[in-house]
Amino acid sequence: MATKHSVDICVIGGGSGGLSVAVAAAQLGVSVVLVEGGKMGGDCLNYGCVPSKALIAAAKHAHIACDSTAFGITGAAPEVQFDKVHDHVHEVIAAIAPNDSVERFTGLGVVVVEEYGAFRDADTVVAGDHEITARRFVLATGSSPAVPPITGLSRVPYLTNETIFDLTERPEHLIIIGGGPIGIELAQAHCRLGSKVTVLEMFVPLAKDDPELTSVVLDQVAADGVDIRAGVAVRKVSKNGGKIQVDIEKDGETTTLSGSHLLVAAGRKPNIDKLNLEAAGIKYSRRGIEVSRGLKTSNKKVYAIGDIAGGLQFTHMANYHAGLVIRNAIFRLPVRENTNIVPWVTFTDPELAHVGLTEEAARKRLGKVRVLRWPYAENDRAQAERCTEGMIKVITSRRGVILGASIVGLNAGELIQPWVLAVTSGLKIKAMTAIIAPYPTLGEINKRVAYGYYASSLTNPWLGRLIRLLARFG
Ligand SMILES: Cc1cc2nc3c(=O)[nH]c(=O)nc-3n(C[C@H](O)[C@H](O)[C@H](O)COP(=O)(O)OP(=O)(O)OC[C@H]3O[C@@H](n4cnc5c(N)ncnc54)[C@H](O)[C@@H]3O)c2cc1C
Repeated sequence: MATKHSVDICVIGGGSGGLSVAVAAAQLGVSVVLVEGGKMGGDCLNYGCVPSKALIAAAKHAHIACDSTAFGITGAAPEVQFDKVHDHVHEVIAAIAPNDSVERFTGLGVVVVEEYGAFRDADTVVAGDHEITARRFVLATGSSPAVPPITGLSRVPYLTNETIFDLTERPEHLIIIGGGPIGIELAQAHCRLGSKVTVLEMFVPLAKDDPELTSVVLDQVAADGVDIRAGVAVRKVSKNGGKIQVDIEKDGETTTLSGSHLLVAAGRKPNIDKLNLEAAGIKYSRRGIEVSRGLKTSNKKVYAIGDIAGGLQFTHMANYHAGLVIRNAIFRLPVRENTNIVPWVTFTDPELAHVGLTEEAARKRLGKVRVLRWPYAENDRAQAERCTEGMIKVITSRRGVILGASIVGLNAGELIQPWVLAVTSGLKIKAMTAIIAPYPTLGEINKRVAYGYYASSLTNPWLGRLIRLLARFG
């Protein structure tokens, strides 16, 4: 006999977005059923942000131990015990997992159904032997690695983000298909942990970011030893003995690479297959579920959030969506998604962070804009840390409204935060010159770059006349 639930909100997917909706709704006293077929915590905790950042942290330690001669510190190269690195990654996941656990959510009053859910009709979701009707449904089923149609790929063992963090032995030669943020982050981390790494990118690596800044990242990743091949098409994959062979074509010439492991990091596909969306009249495409700017699907009772909604794919994006849905579904407030205020960070060394419009997008939208730059090399703390490769680039309107900012360099992901506030609040550049930045911090770059806006005024002859006039008053 089916267990029937009739609730205010039914959330399908217990990852970043779904958990945020469930916890907020439960704390507001709203009845919630959460349906999760895989692991609580979703991609971010189990196969994405958390394990990748833990691996990157291990790689950073290996790199520092190898490369501290500029500080007068030398010694034998460290031994990387890859099985222990694996354990570290899984200890970090385990430390965070209780926050996302069935026990925690049940304790908050959420009914957790540990099954995959599918619509039976426009008003009912079935999950195992549970039947759920709800005033509102929230789809937060995330995305999975997309596997490109490459000849032979299905016949060789390949890794994705769902399996690579399970390796207990260091890959001797890791070939990565895909030079996006996931591919480049994992390439640098494995290289620093001692693997030979080759990245194959069909177009341009890190193509979504400003090339003036990505070049700093890519130069460092290449200097670490990663072989990044851009503009190459992977034609065929095969197995030869214990090796994986990859045939690549560039400028009409075909060559063959041989590696020990293959990682596919060539984009994402939305997790819609299990949902039976047709039964609920929910429209979707290859990118994901179609949503309005208020995140409603073509079935007005149903929202879609996070990766499944086909936009920017970040944990903080899914959390942002969750906040909008809570406001609309519970408080009946009108909401509109604003993707312009969503920052992102690529966690390479150096880090790459961005918010708002890029220079190219701002010029397209507004024509004339101001572009301000300041290099890390002019920052005293960056000198002390020997991390002078990097820059900040800020785009403002001609009247000084901050439109966007990008930072490449040490701790860029932290340094971008005032610019997130600035873009979100529509601040003018003057606000950044008014702050007092403690000395010596990397944060001083945020103030110094803002001064650039006034640099042309300093050579303005009218300003000189004004200063001389004021001097006459004693
Ligand atoms: C390697 C990697 C590194 C990343 N690093 C970062 C980072 O540093 N910062 C960042 O912001 N983002 C990062 N991301 C992206 C981030 O992980 C995702 O954007 C985020 O997890 C999306 O959240 P979500 O709620 O949409 O989906 P998810 O967190 O994936 O949750 C979806 C859940 O739905 C479940 N599910 C699917 N179908 C059904 C069904 N029919 N019934 C029930 N349950 C179902 C799944 O099992 C899953 O648990 C990274 C991703 C990867 C792959």
